[in-house]
Amino acid sequence: MVDLRSQYLSIKTEIDHGIQEVIDSCAFINGPAVKSFQEDLEKYLQCKHVIPCANGTDALQVSMMALDLKPGDEIISVSFTFIATVEVISLLGLTPVFVDVDPGTFNLDITKLEQAITSKTKAIVPVHLFGQCAPMEEIMKIAKKHNLYVIEDAAQAIGADYYFSDGTTKKAGTIGHIGCTSFFPSKNLGCYGDGGAIFTNDDVLAKELRIIVNHGMAIRYYHDRIGVNSRLDSIQAAILKVKLQHLDEYASKRNQAAAYYDKAFSGNPKLKVPTRFSRSNHVFHQYTLLAKDIDRKGLVDWLASREVPAMIYYPVPLHLQKTFKDTRYKAGDFPVTEALSESVFSLPMHTELDDEQLEHITTSVLEFVNR
Ligand SMILES: *Cc1c(COP(=O)(O)O)cnc(C)c1O
Repeated sequence: MVDLRSQYLSIKTEIDHGIQEVIDSCAFINGPAVKSFQEDLEKYLQCKHVIPCANGTDALQVSMMALDLKPGDEIISVSFTFIATVEVISLLGLTPVFVDVDPGTFNLDITKLEQAITSKTKAIVPVHLFGQCAPMEEIMKIAKKHNLYVIEDAAQAIGADYYFSDGTTKKAGTIGHIGCTSFFPSKNLGCYGDGGAIFTNDDVLAKELRIIVNHGMAIRYYHDRIGVNSRLDSIQAAILKVKLQHLDEYASKRNQAAAYYDKAFSGNPKLKVPTRFSRSNHVFHQYTLLAKDIDRKGLVDWLASREVPAMIYYPVPLHLQKTFKDTRYKAGDFPVTEALSESVFSLPMHTELDDEQLEHITTSVLEFVNR
């Protein structure tokens, strides 16, 4: 699905230099490389505060901890996402409330949001799934009306732009009160291990987030609250500093691959190519199609036999997962999410796909689909 080796080889000199510099300095934890990457990312995102942390799941957890919520408070998100988004809601004793998604963009269906809000609702966690933004302008409007926090899960959409109706643009993750991302190796900005970051333009929240990721302390060995130990290590920061300089070029390579796929599959009655949301560009963390009236498992197996990996993100909606079986939800509650789980499949998507590979992938898909 990704080709991390070829990508590494293309930037090997810069990466190796960055790693060696950290080793030479022995500043492995909270070294200057972390601060330097943090500042670069703040500049890139046009965001006042970036708080690096250990992974994307921690970013979400720490964000929710910063809001001082009480057990039983409700957090609205989607069921069509990776478990991490919702796992932390439950972990903190909060109650996840799901809304269905839009069948085209796979993101939160804005027409379903307001009806999910109750007197216990405290926050909304929109996910920018597969690399394009959820309808943030409308989400922020509804959040403001009901006095709710918005925490964006931008783990799959770092670098994506949101276009507001007044003509302004903001980066994914910098629109809500807090934004979260992951630097897991296969993410659009991936390090060589685990990593994550939290974004905010709010000075008070930034201070609290920094305290929480550091054992609840602002001054060493004085603990103001219960926190966690969640740090981005210096070697990962050095790698990310290099890769951040290539992020926009990587997004355009992903878009070139997506355009190739689109051209091969558009108009085919058995396939639906990804819908582009008019208010966002797409950074294609995944290129995800819908299989219509074809045996999806047969297709995935056929592709595997031709050495084309294909994945299903995500085969079981969160509200139907075993771990959520005792919540208020049952099959049929989110028809769009459930239908998507049964028909989506994703093709290889990364920065190193050449025309020969794309040709092999697309002809392999079409051979199965058209037979
Ligand atoms: C990857 C991912 C996360 C979690 O990131 P980790 O760094 O793996 O903890 C959270 N949400 C979404 C949507 C993701 O894709």
